[in-house]
Amino acid sequence: MNVILLGPPGAGKGTQARKIVDEFDFDYISTGDMLRKEVESASRLGKIAKSYMNKGDLVPDSFIVEMIVDNLGELNARNLIDGFPRNISQAEALNKKLTENQQKIAVVLHMNVDDEELINRLSTRAVCILCQAPYKLKSPDENLIVKCNNSPNKDCIIKVRDDDNPKSVARRITVYKNETFPIVKYYKDLNVNLVDIDARGTEDEIFQEISKFIVV
Ligand code: ADP
Repeated sequence: MNVILLGPPGAGKGTQARKIVDEFDFDYISTGDMLRKEVESASRLGKIAKSYMNKGDLVPDSFIVEMIVDNLGELNARNLIDGFPRNISQAEALNKKLTENQQKIAVVLHMNVDDEELINRLSTRAVCILCQAPYKLKSPDENLIVKCNNSPNKDCIIKVRDDDNPKSVARRITVYKNETFPIVKYYKDLNVNLVDIDARGTEDEIFQEISKFIVV
């Protein structure tokens, strides 16, 4: 069973993903988290991905598709996929792989938030560099000396993401509109079960709404 989280940067995909994984039995596959780990370890992929990510551009499909399809698992796998697909060609590659694996998309959760709220959220967001758990800053220039409660490791640090600066945020929102949003129509045309989620409420309200569509 595959559940896909689709939505602009700042829509709260990562936050809701953590709640879904805590409540239901899913393997969490996040391309953003995978890429950040590659960047952190300065791997070959990480060095390539870093410049795209910092600018707010998509990392080329050739690096992404293989990374994700290898992780989809067997027929009965329960995957929660966050950050993929992000353009039509990735959606096509995912369809091809799911058909080969005799797997299906159970639901696409399309999270909607207006631009003003996205920019507001991203300007006051930091994340744990180890577990990626989000942290809300009291102001955009809060001096961070916070430790993350979720990470087992004592050395974890909460930090503003390199791509959460105004220029990259603006670029990511534009890339979302031009490249990712057309996936909504693509899935609707294919009769994939896609539901629109109003993602402006509190974390718990949004989670309650989302939970209705996760069939266990
Ligand atoms: P957000 O949704 O807040 O932009 P993510 O953590 O999902 O954050 O992604 C961060 C960055 O990682 C993206 O801006 C992009 O550069 C890269 N990335 C993540 N997923 C993909 C993907 N499927 N295809 C290409 N690039 C990706």
